[in-house]
Amino acid sequence: MSETSQDTNEPLPAADAAPAGRGNPDRPAEPTPMMRQYWEIKRQHPDCLLFYRMGDFYELFFDDAGVAAAALDIALTKRGQHLGEDIPMCGVPVHAAERYLNRLIAGGHRVAVCEQTEDPAEARKRGPKAVVRREVIRVVTPGTLTEEGLLEAGRHNFLAALAATREELGLAWLDISTGELWLQALTGDGLAAALARVAPGELVVSERLVERPELFEALGEVKEALTLLPASRFNSENARRRLEAAYGVKALDAFGQPGRAEIAAAGALIDYVELTQVGKLPRLAPPQRLPAPGATDAIMEIDAATRRNLELFRTLTGERKGSLLATIDLTVSGVGARLLSGRLSAPLTDVAEIERRLDMVAFFHGDERLREAARRALAACPDMERALSRLSLGRGGPRDLAAVQGALGQAASLKTLLPGAALGPPPAGIGACVQDLGVHDTLVDRLARALGPDLPPSTRDGGFIAPGYAPELDEQRRLRDESRRLTAGLQADYARRAGITSLKVRHNNVLGYFVEVPASQADKLMGEASKDLPFIHRQTMANAVRFSTVELGELEDKITRAGDRALAIELKLFDDLVGEVMGRAAEIAKAARALAALDVAAALAELAAQRRYCRPVVETGRDFVVEAGRHPVVEVALKAAGEADFVANDCALGESGCLWLVTGPNMAGKSTFLRQNALIAILAQSGSYVPAAAARLGVVDRVFSRVGAADDLARGRSTFMVEMVEAATILNQATERSLVILDEIGRGTATFDGLSIAWAMVERLHDVNRCRTLFATHYHELTSLAARLPRLACYTMRVKEWQDDVVFLHEVTPGSADRSYGIHVARLAGMPAEVLARAEDVLDLLQRGDQGSALTRLAEDLPLFAAAGERSPVSSALEEALAAADPDALTPREALDLLYRLKTLAEDGAPGGRPRTGRRGTDDG
Ligand code: ATP
Repeated sequence: MSETSQDTNEPLPAADAAPAGRGNPDRPAEPTPMMRQYWEIKRQHPDCLLFYRMGDFYELFFDDAGVAAAALDIALTKRGQHLGEDIPMCGVPVHAAERYLNRLIAGGHRVAVCEQTEDPAEARKRGPKAVVRREVIRVVTPGTLTEEGLLEAGRHNFLAALAATREELGLAWLDISTGELWLQALTGDGLAAALARVAPGELVVSERLVERPELFEALGEVKEALTLLPASRFNSENARRRLEAAYGVKALDAFGQPGRAEIAAAGALIDYVELTQVGKLPRLAPPQRLPAPGATDAIMEIDAATRRNLELFRTLTGERKGSLLATIDLTVSGVGARLLSGRLSAPLTDVAEIERRLDMVAFFHGDERLREAARRALAACPDMERALSRLSLGRGGPRDLAAVQGALGQAASLKTLLPGAALGPPPAGIGACVQDLGVHDTLVDRLARALGPDLPPSTRDGGFIAPGYAPELDEQRRLRDESRRLTAGLQADYARRAGITSLKVRHNNVLGYFVEVPASQADKLMGEASKDLPFIHRQTMANAVRFSTVELGELEDKITRAGDRALAIELKLFDDLVGEVMGRAAEIAKAARALAALDVAAALAELAAQRRYCRPVVETGRDFVVEAGRHPVVEVALKAAGEADFVANDCALGESGCLWLVTGPNMAGKSTFLRQNALIAILAQSGSYVPAAAARLGVVDRVFSRVGAADDLARGRSTFMVEMVEAATILNQATERSLVILDEIGRGTATFDGLSIAWAMVERLHDVNRCRTLFATHYHELTSLAARLPRLACYTMRVKEWQDDVVFLHEVTPGSADRSYGIHVARLAGMPAEVLARAEDVLDLLQRGDQGSALTRLAEDLPLFAAAGERSPVSSALEEALAAADPDALTPREALDLLYRLKTLAEDGAPGGRPRTGRRGTDDG
């Protein structure tokens, strides 16, 4: 059913209720004042759906109505006419607007929210035709969401801006729901990886920038989240002034001396936020600069393909469940989950900083009781960071104040808890967190006293300030409640005086308080009969008649006045409390970040304890030594499925052997082994323990992976093309400090082409890139490179052949495989027996040497499946019949019958055999 304002009791503004042209569709009528207002506002937001507030509804008109009705699956109705045409309309109730907004934003729309900014009564004072004043108070876009219901608790939603100067690019990204702002200078090469890392919900770029094909191409998947702005919005001088004003500083030097492109990006970002928030800026944390890729303290770069292939945040099928993050995330708070995700997305390369994070994990790892107590406190922390941002945008409610109170309260208990660790004084990272948790007792105490027990989501109707907090408020509430009680008390008095026991005192928005009696009794209160009674007739309905009284009217006035005064007092108190919170916003944000860091450390310690992870040693050398490493996700999946335990494997790459060539059967665990080592590097440098018995890892500057096959048809690339693009990136960009995993390079083309490419790549990686590499392949021929390349070592996956079967041991061991057991895996996959038998014949022939003549023979052997497909069931039926026969036990007659039967079976199997009824090749005699 359609929900529109017409379904509500709310009276519409008088002028709005009379659409133009009604009753005379032939003559274009003047637009109504309301329509004129609508178009004026709509013209300022042509690219948005306009949510036009009317009473308790947001209405959409004209084309917007058609688009929204389809996207939201709600009924499209009409409302009067405009210039002689019906006006299409649909609407969503204000109280449920968030849900609808969510769907529109997810569907790629932008929504301008237009509110009534004055009371309809005020408008009426200007004349009967005056329209209620309305203004767009906010434009909702994918990158500017702040509502709890529109955001995922554990994920950042970044709004990013990209700016280009002649020399460099600047990327700025902001989570408007938390106020975190980041800057990074980039070159064209690093852009795609940086965007894959930030994964913005919306990217703002200049119209001019998208005209540069090399940059546009690098935007990758983010192209779907683009917002184009005029180039003038990216002017770096204006941007500088805007940033200085936003932060109230005279120069930006204190923020790590960002370059012109970064400033232009950040300025455009802030400009866009002001535009969408209609002049309001959320509280902004000081901008943090990420070092440019390649700098010594840069983060580990992981390009988009590698992120996807390693399933860091989503599986290859796009789900979160089954990704690395989902598997290792044991955080208990939204801030913690967001921080962990950010850390995994941007692992560090600075050994000291990695050690600092690992020390924090070790602190919680070593003390289970403390860890549990801390996690309990952290789990009880509401999302103070997002609450703070909503409050700063003037969009907060009483529950946001309660969130600040709750989280700061827990911060205080953590502060007393942490120094009491069994292991002695906490490490520096924990010490810094304790410091940052700060002292907020006065604020917490004030909020605790001020806020009532059951808080409404918005301030609109009041009722959130606790009794006893403000005497003036208590007084107004007392007056209001007493009047209500008096009103209710009048019912008995009126019933007695009127002699009508069923008389009721009721209330609605139109009449206020009134007396209602059944229609059959109403005569007693009207005309002569009511001479001495106080009832004034107001409304006659089918079954009831309504009356007002002077007394009720006076009480109603008192209630309204006291209620209005109480609400005004509450709103003032709310503003005061918000002001107090915002006065300490920087300290509160610091405390929120400390809570996040503690949650991450405690969660990673819990992970290490639950799943037996070890603390890695991260160092500056080039070794990559993992003892008994495991794949964090496959291990959990095997356990959940109740299958055999995961088999741990060592890996040792270093100066002497930096390239492992891993051969082995299909399904033996090569890909798993490759990926687990890349994941271990990423986990370690994010500051996590790792799934291994021990790990000593020289810092990795970039991880590259080329795994499996994926078409990118949307971008016009075939499977093989995608593979080659990714392989080329690796050869062009991998350094001595990189870790490269390559799985089955060259599989998407002709055998010899693929082998040749794989061969040349191994040589190049070994001689030129000299990166640490794990290279899995079914081209067993590559193992002969070991004789020539000193740093190449051959490894294989062990299998056991047992009773004609193959058992995968999932063990990596020195050596090389001589076969792939592909046909065995095909059998496991349920391939038809005839195909398997034929494949074995073909393989046998091919393996016997001269491939040319083998292929000729195979081709001449047509029809390929005729012999295998038709002969075997029949011959086996014949054989079965013969085997079942016992000549000594047969009578002569039975022997003759058997002979006929055997002959029939044999004829059935012969080429061109006699057609028969019944199933072919089976014994139906
Ligand atoms: P292909 O060459 O066909 O791609 P592969 O050698 O790369 O195969 P994987 O895909 O790594 O094999 O592994 C196949 C399956 O074997 C995995 O899905 C997992 O269930 C299991 N497996 C892999 N490694 C291990 C291990 N170390 N311990 C236990 N099971 C494992």
